[in-house]
Amino acid sequence: MKDAPTAEEIAAVDALVGTQAQRDTRSAHGGKAARDDRHLLLPALHAVNDRIGWISAGALNYICRRLTVPPADAFGVATFYHMFSLEPRPATTVHVCDDIACLANGAADVCAAMEEHYGRTSWERSPCLGMCDHAPAALVIKAGAEPVQQPLGHVHAADVPSLVDMPRDGRTGKLHVGGTQLRLLRRIGKIDPESLDDYRAHGGYAALRRALEIGPDAVIAEIAASKLVGRGGAAFPTGRKMEAVARAAAHPHYVICNADESEPGTFKDRILMEQDPFAIVEAMTISGIATGCEHGYIYVRGEYPVAVQRLQRAIEQARRHGFLGHDIMERGVRFDLEVRRGAGAYICGEETALFNSIEGKRGEPRNKPPFPAQAGLFGKPTLVNNVETLACIPEIITEGAQTFAAIGTSGSTGTKLYCVCGTVARAGLYEVPFGTTLRELIDLAGGVRENRKLRTVLLGGAAGTFVGPDSLDLPLTFEDTRAAGTTVGSGVVMLFDESIDMAQIVTRIAGFFRDESCGQCVPCRVGTVRQQEALRRGDAALINEIARAMRDASICGLGQTAANAVESALTLRLLDKGAS
Ligand code: SF4
Repeated sequence: MKDAPTAEEIAAVDALVGTQAQRDTRSAHGGKAARDDRHLLLPALHAVNDRIGWISAGALNYICRRLTVPPADAFGVATFYHMFSLEPRPATTVHVCDDIACLANGAADVCAAMEEHYGRTSWERSPCLGMCDHAPAALVIKAGAEPVQQPLGHVHAADVPSLVDMPRDGRTGKLHVGGTQLRLLRRIGKIDPESLDDYRAHGGYAALRRALEIGPDAVIAEIAASKLVGRGGAAFPTGRKMEAVARAAAHPHYVICNADESEPGTFKDRILMEQDPFAIVEAMTISGIATGCEHGYIYVRGEYPVAVQRLQRAIEQARRHGFLGHDIMERGVRFDLEVRRGAGAYICGEETALFNSIEGKRGEPRNKPPFPAQAGLFGKPTLVNNVETLACIPEIITEGAQTFAAIGTSGSTGTKLYCVCGTVARAGLYEVPFGTTLRELIDLAGGVRENRKLRTVLLGGAAGTFVGPDSLDLPLTFEDTRAAGTTVGSGVVMLFDESIDMAQIVTRIAGFFRDESCGQCVPCRVGTVRQQEALRRGDAALINEIARAMRDASICGLGQTAANAVESALTLRLLDKGAS
């Protein structure tokens, strides 16, 4: 039969959705009930890709039959994600990061060596892998019955011949974690991230106990009084979002952890999930109970295999010990969680794109309103918070809103995690109170590598802006950065010394947005392409004109911010030849 699935492909899908015979014995399964399985489309595509290494037409047909998804729809979804291939490829593929932090640390040499050694097979260039503290980075993916995903850090051209055959076991490099006030990072490096007992011995689950004692309204009041705002980049008040979902009349309510951390230069959420996964599970449980949700999702980017594994283990242990399930801490309260893996699409970090991705659709943003608190996942009221935002919640509940609000400034409360990377002495994750200056933060990370002269700092990631050395005394708060025309964004502080070819870096940023635009709206789809072309020609007037159109008329934040870094590079004359 044309495009029939192989036995291995059938086994991969059946392991996820059950065999046809198992389904037939349960009940008649058709119509709406069958279409309700659409949310399993992304996991089913992962199942085949993990087992075989790519998704054949036969496998796609079989998935469509089992989940009652039209083939054209499934094709549209499968081709949306970087990590899937609909063309045959070897079982082992090395994804080599060629994004900005890795470029500043020698990724171009690694890519050249890959090209020379493997030609065009067995490897692919990848946008940021979220391992900028270990740049240059790679991710080796080995398909099979027991698939392996091995992140590698500090990859050198000399490593290239052995990358496909024998990935080095677990080598990513030394984790640098520091700061002047460790609150969210205080357990990191001190506990076994796979041990619930260890987590509890270091204060874990005290917050959930208190949340159950004081009740949902008091939990939301504490979060609101702490003045916590979202740490993913949008800085929206978390308490206000929680209140809107809790009061929404429609049911069920959903709670989602947005762990699709894909902003180039950002790796803080990965470290939190890998090193302190129970804290995220506990925070989700508190959020769910406070807002009347019984089911939550943690949507983790596909390039974070260790985070996925640790969160899944944490969820299993929490469930086994009564911290998740239908009788949490014997209080008769119900809440449970599941992990969903992204598959390589930056845009899925946009909250409504993330809903579509979980629902088994292309990860394209929706128009707002309606906002997620009114109609989010599956059209129901949904609370979405970023990993770092969630990590603040147990702190606030155990220590009290006033303690949290007393840290930082009146407009930016608490501590903030910064991903300090690029050409810095000790790339890593640093926690400091809001109000710390850029200079103080860079000093914590050891300053510019090899005592070179600082050329520029990228604040907030690819969607942020470049600032010059004259901004080193800028206090890092939402209000100060806004007034200075820049942003805290997702907490990226990426240094570039005078040896770096900034034209290459800025062109890579433009290429990143061109590749990652979902293509749904014209200003962004066409604007990101034209921006890259104009940048190559050095046409500053056209770049500014395109930037205005993208900012004013794009549907979502990707298009609205795609020109920020490019425009700021022009303003600082970073692209002028001989300007360093
Ligand atoms: Fe898609 Fe870009 Fe439009 Fe956002 S702005 S919806 S990413 S095309």
